Amino acid sequence: MVRRGWRLVYFAGLRLGGVRLLGLLHKSFIAVSVAAFLISTAVASVLPRRVPEIRLPGVLPRELIIPVDGVTESQLVDTWGAARSHGRKHEGIDIMARLGTPVRATAEGTIAKFFKSKRGGITIYEFDEAGRAIFYYAHLSAYAAGLKEGDHVLQGQLIAYVGSTGNATTPHLHFEILRASAAHQWWRGKALNPYLPLKNAHLPPDLAAVTAAQ
Ligand SMILES: [Zn+2]
Repeated sequence: MVRRGWRLVYFAGLRLGGVRLLGLLHKSFIAVSVAAFLISTAVASVLPRRVPEIRLPGVLPRELIIPVDGVTESQLVDTWGAARSHGRKHEGIDIMARLGTPVRATAEGTIAKFFKSKRGGITIYEFDEAGRAIFYYAHLSAYAAGLKEGDHVLQGQLIAYVGSTGNATTPHLHFEILRASAAHQWWRGKALNPYLPLKNAHLPPDLAAVTAAQ
């Protein structure tokens, strides 16, 4: 009877020990996870923020220019992917500027379409020379006088003016770069983040000449 009693105590102790061991393992697992999370967050905050690089092999013919007069690279804000109404994501860059600021062709190309829509307001779709990229300019206040669909435009050529037409609340240029579909349709393309191409944009030496000619 006494031996049985000891045995019970022995097994009860084993069980309790097991439970305690499991509890200990569980606690250390949580501690390790929390530590790993804290360390990775700290490391991520120290490392420079990596802007997702866009790959445009053969899509962009050459360097682009920032399509709004007086805006420098340092003023550009990466607004790609920002949340918009109805669960949409922002698929371009918003370049803030005063109402009526000249909007210029980011690259040489063809005016594919003057389009007016509820969201974009007064817009322009431009094809680059090769027809591989589409440049979309939205919320414009007006088109440049005399410009029409099918016109060939030079890089830096005046094409429109900044506005707040469509669903814009403050004057700005909403600018998109789309990889054109094979069918060369202005309304169909895959949007790419224009932030880096514009950030790396350099004013071409001939821009002054183009500007002076207008
Ligand atoms: Zn926008």
